[in-house]
Amino acid sequence: MNTPIPILVYHSIATESAPRFRTFTLPPSLFAAQMAHLNQARYTPITATQLARAMTDPSIRLAERTLLITFDDGLADFFTAALPVLRQYNFPATLYIATGFVGGTSRWLRYAGETNRPMLTWSQIAEISNNGVECGAHSHTHPYLDIIPPAQAQDEIMRPKMELEQHSGRAVETFSYPHGYHSAAVKQLVRQAGYSSACALKHATSALSDDRFALARIIVTPDTTLDQFSQLVKGSGLPIAPTRERTRTKVWRFVRRSTRWLNSRLEPDSE
Ligand SMILES: [Zn+2]
Repeated sequence: MNTPIPILVYHSIATESAPRFRTFTLPPSLFAAQMAHLNQARYTPITATQLARAMTDPSIRLAERTLLITFDDGLADFFTAALPVLRQYNFPATLYIATGFVGGTSRWLRYAGETNRPMLTWSQIAEISNNGVECGAHSHTHPYLDIIPPAQAQDEIMRPKMELEQHSGRAVETFSYPHGYHSAAVKQLVRQAGYSSACALKHATSALSDDRFALARIIVTPDTTLDQFSQLVKGSGLPIAPTRERTRTKVWRFVRRSTRWLNSRLEPDSE
């Protein structure tokens, strides 16, 4: 029940980035080397919804080295730099898209000086979802869901599901919280909207017994060597996800709520 299941999260596969977005940008050669390692070490990637099903149905047996490859945001370089590598190994992945920016640029990344990164188009998203990638929702405008009014949070949770379903013709069952931030109320809204899973961040491995609406993910940074990566996917040195929200997270939410007007400048380490 508690076999560690790493859920990796990537954002951009590219060579260039502003300094504040560097952590979220992996050079294509490094991404290719990591996928080659997963293939060679016989890992079995599955999608978020496959994991959610296994979490609710004990008759589903997962392969010994199961992991998840996820991407947040819906940047255009997913199509050009990540998808071809995933196809090469027949690796399923889960891509979380902030639908308000489709066909445009990454306008929410003001704090990182990255407002001009091209985003996927709807036709690319349709092609992606026909190529073994599960498309999930990552809100509409990438807000801090845990500190905005509930009605607004509900719209941010429901609207991308509807839009993605319209454009891809497929059910959208998984969500990822912008910046990883969520609260009990936000989780409840996600559940009510009809999703069966939701991803946070946390830098911990997951397990079948985890909360399927607060899945831990591991951010893969450009400083992760291949050696470290191979340890990371084994779960070495990483905790299994804590099921309860840490006090530190709650305190930080209070700070963010109290200083909402400063949010664009108060961004220490979120995507
Ligand atoms: Zn994001």
